[in-house]
Amino acid sequence: MTKTLKLGCIADDFTGATDLANNLVRSGMRVVQTIGVPAAPLAADVDAVVVALKSRTIPTAEAIAQSLEALKWLQAQGATQIYFKYCSTFDSTPEGNIGPVTEALMDALGTDFTIATPAFPDNGRTVFKGYLFAGNVLLNESGMQNHPLTPMTDANLVRVMQAQTKRKVGLIDYKTVGLGEAAIRERIATLRAEGVGVGVVDATSNEDLHRMGPALKSLPLLTAGSGVAIGLPANFGLKPSLQASQLPAARGLQAVVSGSCSVATNGQVAHFKATGRPAMAINPASLMHGQTDAVVQQVLAWAGPLLQNGPVLVYSTAEPDAVKAVQAQLGVAEAGALVEHALASVARGLVDLGVQQLVVAGGETSGACVQALNIAQLQIGPQIDPGVPWCHAPSPTGGVHITLKSGNFGTEDFFSKAFGVLK
Ligand code: ADP
Repeated sequence: MTKTLKLGCIADDFTGATDLANNLVRSGMRVVQTIGVPAAPLAADVDAVVVALKSRTIPTAEAIAQSLEALKWLQAQGATQIYFKYCSTFDSTPEGNIGPVTEALMDALGTDFTIATPAFPDNGRTVFKGYLFAGNVLLNESGMQNHPLTPMTDANLVRVMQAQTKRKVGLIDYKTVGLGEAAIRERIATLRAEGVGVGVVDATSNEDLHRMGPALKSLPLLTAGSGVAIGLPANFGLKPSLQASQLPAARGLQAVVSGSCSVATNGQVAHFKATGRPAMAINPASLMHGQTDAVVQQVLAWAGPLLQNGPVLVYSTAEPDAVKAVQAQLGVAEAGALVEHALASVARGLVDLGVQQLVVAGGETSGACVQALNIAQLQIGPQIDPGVPWCHAPSPTGGVHITLKSGNFGTEDFFSKAFGVLK
């Protein structure tokens, strides 16, 4: 197959990869997301591949090794520009992994300059004079200062990045970005001449991201959240098109599996039930003492006949008090693992019953379901809600349409709306 791959992306977590892929598709690229670094060459004819790693908080040496392996694979598929995607809240510690991975990719690509910006104004992430805002507050006042794994106590990204890298870090500020492509290029040349290796870029609007795009065309490596992606497809002569998000026609039965306990997902479960559709709750306590298989069989026996009439919902979604009670009884990790395992088995069983359109709610829940379904690759399709596209996982038996909704995404009617988007 002639290789048409243009952009090669490395994402440091799973739902972040989907978020990036979604932005690229909406700007006109045909995109495949892979779960980890594929063992085989790319089989699909696409413009971009997003390799989803789980490298955000793993030991730095491992994050570097995995990212370099992803780079090698992407280069072998013909990628001409590399995009390292991290969280829009710049989740990292002074040890990394954003700085060290960036440095390793720069070394491997033999480049002396790259940018860094988690800006995504549509999602409330803006960078001004190098300071990252989440909504209306600075990053270190947003709650992220209390994150269990990557507490962000400084909103100044030049300082944050400088603590993680030996390369000199500089700033391309909002005034320069506002002036457009030529001014940004000039600033990059100046920073380079000053020995700066990483330029943090301000952006407070989508227009800033679009102005940035053409100025980044010749950089071998970009590092960013998902926002910068909206300005890139035009560099490859691509325009937004319906064709970019086209998936094979949807077939088969429909189901929703929900393990997210977020405010948004609780609302979505309540909404789905209120429409009169069949829904079955899984009580985590019922899974104790090796009862998971029995519970899963019971759920599938219930779902079997109902599926013929339209989508069913299987959920462990619960309000905070109920979740806390279960966690006190089972332990946080044990409760999570039990529920994830059960929901993943339910997803597998539903697909065996003929479900080929599956909505999964919850980031960790999605990871467990994708693994249980042996999905290695997802073609990215049309957006249901911001950050949440339909995807298609091919298989010899026809494949599955699946959407992976992280906790707080989606409107209240997301579960019913999703199937409408596939029609
Ligand atoms: P989100 O995207 O909202 O964070 P996740 O799937 O990532 O959702 O995380 C939810 C976690 O809570 C999972 O580990 C899941 O197994 C667990 N969980 C789901 N339902 C319950 C429940 N009723 N009680 C305790 N833990 C639960």
